[in-house]
Amino acid sequence: MEKYSFPKILYHALRGHKHWQPAWRSPLPKKSYDVVVIGGGGHGLATAYYLAKKHGVTNVAVLERGWIGGGNSGRNTQVTRSNYFYPESAAFFEHSLKLYESMSRDLNINVMFSQRGVLNLAHSDHDMEMLARWTNAIQLNGIDSEILTPQQIKEMEPLIDINARFPVAGGFIQRRGGISRHDAVNWGYARAADALGVDIIQNCTVTGFNISHGTVTGVQTSLGDISGEKVHITVAGHTSVLAKMAGFRLPLTSMALQAMVSEPIKPVLNLVTVSGAIHMYVSQSDRGEIVLGAGADVYNSYAQRGSYDNVESCVAAFLTLYPRFSRLKLMRQWAGIVDISPDTSPIMGRTPVQNLYINCGWGTGGYKAIPASGDTMADTIVNDRPHALIKPFSLERFESGALVDESAAAGVAH
Ligand SMILES: Cc1cc2nc3c(=O)[nH]c(=O)nc-3n(C[C@H](O)[C@H](O)[C@H](O)COP(=O)(O)OP(=O)(O)OC[C@H]3O[C@@H](n4cnc5c(N)ncnc54)[C@H](O)[C@@H]3O)c2cc1C
Repeated sequence: MEKYSFPKILYHALRGHKHWQPAWRSPLPKKSYDVVVIGGGGHGLATAYYLAKKHGVTNVAVLERGWIGGGNSGRNTQVTRSNYFYPESAAFFEHSLKLYESMSRDLNINVMFSQRGVLNLAHSDHDMEMLARWTNAIQLNGIDSEILTPQQIKEMEPLIDINARFPVAGGFIQRRGGISRHDAVNWGYARAADALGVDIIQNCTVTGFNISHGTVTGVQTSLGDISGEKVHITVAGHTSVLAKMAGFRLPLTSMALQAMVSEPIKPVLNLVTVSGAIHMYVSQSDRGEIVLGAGADVYNSYAQRGSYDNVESCVAAFLTLYPRFSRLKLMRQWAGIVDISPDTSPIMGRTPVQNLYINCGWGTGGYKAIPASGDTMADTIVNDRPHALIKPFSLERFESGALVDESAAAGVAH
């Protein structure tokens, strides 16, 4: 793998940037692999990377029906934090946040991880009580979190109108939370996995499974059959479609989640700010765009578009808190299809089919999970038992009732 460094950039710049090594190969699929990963999003690529890096399993294919990172992993708003309510979620997401902190070094690519702080706002005494309860739980989980007064919030983020129609009653912040560059995360894992021998095969759609006596033996694809000793489904909003092909059902609904960006302006926002009550969240990208998002569209869909009324309500909520942006132009809007489970926690681990594994149900919040999910799923696949950190998130919880119900705890879950 060609090392990325300042002298390397200089060297290539002087040669007109014509001799960079491709970041990954484009191989034709082999007849068989030890592990076939379906889905070239962040989760699939990270799983392939950790299989090779930590377990020496390099005979791995990642099959992607489009281009890598073309799904939700390249469509999200990049918010990363570990301030979850329940200890199970906190342990998992804190592991992920720590992996984000060293990711640029580990993958030798600048993922532009900016720990600028994630601020959650309260707009009433009741809201504030809920945030205080949430903050206490986060602190009991050993994770940083601080309550802020409206004046402290105004000092940290001067453009928020704290006396708006729904006045800001306070909030809490996780200072280690922030944003990174999602393309760099996807490309970083792809490049590092490829360098370890993983085959990344784009434009290859999985259309079915070969299953013999309850054990998966491979997949049917648009490029022909590919055998796999173990197969891993990591296709976000399309997991139910793949599960149906394999003969089982999942407690998931698929919905469009939208995001949008304004025209670029000079740096004016310092934090990632979330308002669950007014219902929007905002940050400013390093390119200067104001990045906005809110909740998922309220109907099931596989159309990666989203509805107009969601754009309107998100912008209205944003302008309530930041009236100064009223003349800013919206530049782009898009959507991704997210898969939401009944307790809004992920589903990770084994399936009713032997040697077939799933990683899904990330809903609106799986970008922050990419490294930990890759790490723990690789371990789970190699050892055919759930890694300790993801045991609470197995499919069996919907039989036992041991749910990890983050839906009420997290509000806007990004
Ligand atoms: C608008 C938006 C904003 C978001 N904001 C945040 C945020 O701020 N923070 C956060 O933590 N999370 C956020 N998320 C959620 C996060 O993006 C996802 O949870 C995460 O990216 C899921 O990654 P993945 O690898 O599982 O899925 P994806 O990145 O969607 O990858 C799955 C891949 O599977 C491929 N695939 C599907 N079917 C097949 C098939 N049959 N054969 C082969 N390949 C197939 C798809 O083409 C796709 O590339 C957001 C999501 C959206 C849509």
